[in-house]
Amino acid sequence: YIKNNGRGHYCYYREELKHYFPNEALMEAHLHRAIELKEFMIYFQPQVNLETNKIDSFEALIRWENRKFGMVSPAQFIPIAESSGLIISIGEWVLERVCQYQKEWREYGFKPVRIAVNISPKQFKQKDFVKRISALLQQYKVEPKYLELEITESSMTNLHETTSILSRLKEIGVYVSVDDFGTGYSSLSYLKEYPIDIIKIDQSFITDIEKDRKNKAIVETIILLAQNLGLEVIAEGVEETAQEQFLRENNCQKVQGYLYNRPLPANQIVEQYFH
Ligand code: C2E
Ligand code: MG
Ligand code: MG
Ligand code: MG
Repeated sequence: YIKNNGRGHYCYYREELKHYFPNEALMEAHLHRAIELKEFMIYFQPQVNLETNKIDSFEALIRWENRKFGMVSPAQFIPIAESSGLIISIGEWVLERVCQYQKEWREYGFKPVRIAVNISPKQFKQKDFVKRISALLQQYKVEPKYLELEITESSMTNLHETTSILSRLKEIGVYVSVDDFGTGYSSLSYLKEYPIDIIKIDQSFITDIEKDRKNKAIVETIILLAQNLGLEVIAEGVEETAQEQFLRENNCQKVQGYLYNRPLPANQIVEQYFH
């Protein structure tokens, strides 16, 4: 398969291909038991509002620690979960765990905060997805405005189906964001058709933003597009102050990245943000 080596060059990795498939089958076998073995955890990455310089939301990111494989990156196991269909139960586990944290934190008396959850295409298109969301919100008494669903352009393949799901989510009152904006194959017209609230600028556009004129142009334009459409905009993968400076100058509302925080386990979030 084709792999980006991180400097924008694409190469074919033949050796990797050989090792990848047997490993993938084994990983899938372990993934099947991961929920019952309690191998998953949720980490939270703070999102910083550049207007107030405060943290007013988090992104929930799944972590998997397995006996055989150790810590496995979601970039590795989410595609396997997606192709095997396991993503449905994993995704449900994430949503429920996030709602449990909201309940727990509320009962401790912490000020509620919006949490964004990544939703895979299969999960998004699950028949009773919207019903499950509203059932979870009710069960854990979470106000809809504290839940954000991150979908990607690859979830929006069928106009009729997507419109129906998104308008029902809008009715419930949860937020919807487009993750990895600009990296999929969708047409921009979906921004007109669908009730979307937030655009997340993919980190590939943020890299080298101070030097790369094309990335600069793309990011400036995405921010203006979001502003003109009345959407919230957040830049992902901010690692350097020069990147933050650029984003500030261009009125990007929110930022998320290692410059501020790596994703953190719940206990550290509680220590650092709620105390
Ligand atoms: P994503 O949703 O685009 O999440 C952003 C990824 O970038 C996260 O990787 C995060 O840890 C990482 N990141 C944040 N700030 C920086 C930075 O400054 N520099 C760099 N280099 N990276 C940064 P992570 O946690 O490994 O997740 C990778 C992807 O796996 C996510 O990309 C998302 O697509 C998927 N994923 C993670 N959790 C879930 C989940 O619960 N459900 C589903 N369906 N997918 C998930
Ligand atoms: Mg995301
Ligand atoms: Mg992203
Ligand atoms: Mg991504």
